[in-house]
Amino acid sequence: MYTLGIETSCDETSCAVTKNCEVISNITISSLKEHKKYGGVIPEIATRAHLKNINRVFELALKTANITKKKIDLIAVTNRPGLIGSLVVGVNFAKAISLALKKPLIGINHLHAHFFAPYLDYNNKIKFPFLSLVVSGGHTEIYQVKSFNEIKTLGRTRDDACGEVFDKIAKAYHLGYPGGPVIDKLFNDAYKKEFLFKCGKIGFDLSFSGIKTALMYKKIQMEKNGEFNLKMKIKLVSSFQYSALETIIKTTLEAVNKFKIYRVACGGGVLANQYLRERLLEIEKQTKISFLISPKKYTGDNAAMVAGLGFYLYNSLGVTHNLRMKPEAN
Ligand code: AMP
Ligand code: MG
Repeated sequence: MYTLGIETSCDETSCAVTKNCEVISNITISSLKEHKKYGGVIPEIATRAHLKNINRVFELALKTANITKKKIDLIAVTNRPGLIGSLVVGVNFAKAISLALKKPLIGINHLHAHFFAPYLDYNNKIKFPFLSLVVSGGHTEIYQVKSFNEIKTLGRTRDDACGEVFDKIAKAYHLGYPGGPVIDKLFNDAYKKEFLFKCGKIGFDLSFSGIKTALMYKKIQMEKNGEFNLKMKIKLVSSFQYSALETIIKTTLEAVNKFKIYRVACGGGVLANQYLRERLLEIEKQTKISFLISPKKYTGDNAAMVAGLGFYLYNSLGVTHNLRMKPEAN
């Protein structure tokens, strides 16, 4: 069965084709460069880029998969959550294809697709229940997944998402955009405890706006003292990364221990972080917890995870949506 996946929730225009569970093409064009000078995603620019790119990405995904449109059996599209203008482009494109080919259409929750990513390609049989961790530019969430019909949010950020704070700090420190990969590269283990920054935590809920403000005040203070050089920036961002990621890990482990669920599926852009990946694998070795971590190529927004989850839901639950399906920003 061939599934076409479509993802346009933020700044990546992506189309993918899966053959059952296997990803046979996954094409993404990002408008990232167009947002660079603003240090964050500008919704209007993202929407226009989707409009410009979607057809080309779709054609390329089919060409790479070596199939024609007629071979498509199912269309899966991200319809929530995301930037509303961006979602509208993908959802309407998907509806048009569904209507023209007379094939079923399924709306996919982008966050569920992120934690489905570790199950792609490997044809892993999904064992329920599991916990899941999604850390991205827009979300930081921990879920309890009893089945894809029963997903309970255990905790989430009460303000900024973790990836968003990586981006904002890097912007303020003139380190570049997006901030996550830059800070990941600059991270120096020797400096992780140089500044003892703290993140907010209430139960399984998290808060990152306080640590962001602390980093901003440090900048002002260091600039006044003429100490805000590259070495100081490295010390500051290393301490930030350590605190933010360790808080997420600690909260996840608390959820594991409370619910006695020892499988955690992890996805989202921040899961590309080397320190985070290594720490999760280290914990896995020392405990009975297994972390199913999204392969790096599927951590950022992509349509492969959307197609994969669409195929799974269609076959396991028989879920489809009709053409009245709406995009939902939240
Ligand atoms: P997404 O929202 O899933 O597309 O992920 C994008 C977010 O992931 C942005 O906020 C990036 O800064 C962040 N990100 C990407 N790579 C890394 C990395 N290596 N370390 C930390 N954050 C990252
Ligand atoms: Mg995302």
